[in-house]
Amino acid sequence: MADYYQTLGVSKNASQDEIKKSFRKLARQYHPDKNPGDKAAEDKFKEVNQAYETLSDPEKRKQYDELSRLGAFGAGPGGGFRPGAGGAQGFDPRIFQQWQSQGGGAQFEMGDLGDLLGNLFGGAGPGRGRRRQSERGADLQADVTVSFDDALHGVTVRVPVEKQDTCVTCHGSGAKPGTTPKVCPECQGRGMVARNQGPFALSEPCPRCHGQGTIIEQPCATCHGTGVQTRTRRYNVKIPAGVKDGSRIRIKGKGEAGLRGGPAGDLYVRVRVETDELFVRRGDDLVVDVPVTVAEAALGATVKVPTPGGGRVSLKVPAGSQDGRCLRLRGKGMPKLKGGHGNLLVKLRVTIPAKLTREQKQLFEKLAATLPDPRSTTD
Ligand SMILES: [Zn+2]
Ligand SMILES: [Zn+2]
Repeated sequence: MADYYQTLGVSKNASQDEIKKSFRKLARQYHPDKNPGDKAAEDKFKEVNQAYETLSDPEKRKQYDELSRLGAFGAGPGGGFRPGAGGAQGFDPRIFQQWQSQGGGAQFEMGDLGDLLGNLFGGAGPGRGRRRQSERGADLQADVTVSFDDALHGVTVRVPVEKQDTCVTCHGSGAKPGTTPKVCPECQGRGMVARNQGPFALSEPCPRCHGQGTIIEQPCATCHGTGVQTRTRRYNVKIPAGVKDGSRIRIKGKGEAGLRGGPAGDLYVRVRVETDELFVRRGDDLVVDVPVTVAEAALGATVKVPTPGGGRVSLKVPAGSQDGRCLRLRGKGMPKLKGGHGNLLVKLRVTIPAKLTREQKQLFEKLAATLPDPRSTTD
């Protein structure tokens, strides 16, 4: 449990001068500029600031002392205070009612008190405590379009992703290099302000600092004080052979960065596969139209059919094949993600010559005389 006197390394009877002196020494020691990237030092710096905010103000210090005296913070360092836990050192709301009825509430409303308690007990309050929790970064989505051939063989593509990244100029502080964010004077760094007076006051995010607890007087020119900038990162994404149109590929940890040490989100790459002029995708199977002559369909034939990837294979067309008949070439379709291949479905298209030579015409006429009437039901 934090003890503001302990945090500043001074006694409970320390003078305002001693408090100020100790604060300056500690603030210099733990200043983020002196400890770049050191999370522990940064936290310590915040704690020191927070303790000083209260103890440097004689009125607030008096109230803090008063609360300590009433036992609201448990007995000594490490005391077992838990809001609502009851027990000898438990939280007793009557202490606050009593304290308020003594006139304390006139300057120090419940909202502030709640925040103060929240700060003291490491995260229970509506102020700083909540903002300190780590947060997982958001997931991101990117779209890539690959050709039919790339989907057939698999491909590695470079995917540009727009990401909110820590600003390279100010390293995320939002302040112009050489300056530091100041403790917000509106909320004294709590990030929350009490809207109403009285015991049921509501706390809401500070309108001046938007709940950050700090304000930036000279914003960083690169990120305009936000501490983040949009940057385009490029990732190599392996598209597996046989990828289907509309598939999503998850790339773990390549989404937005987490906040306060939280894990990064994931990147989802949505794959669009271009259609092919020849082959139509049907799951892992491919359908291809192959024209055959009337004679080939009637007499049967062996024809060459195209396969994905460029080759041709021989296919036996059975005699008496009708237009639209589908023949299957096993394993000549798309690669399956789990191994193996789909099939190639060959759809026969019986083509009728649009123009006949004199000789062909005579042959057809000869043939026609022998053909039964296909509309006759008696045959
Ligand atoms: Zn910046
Ligand atoms: Zn504020």
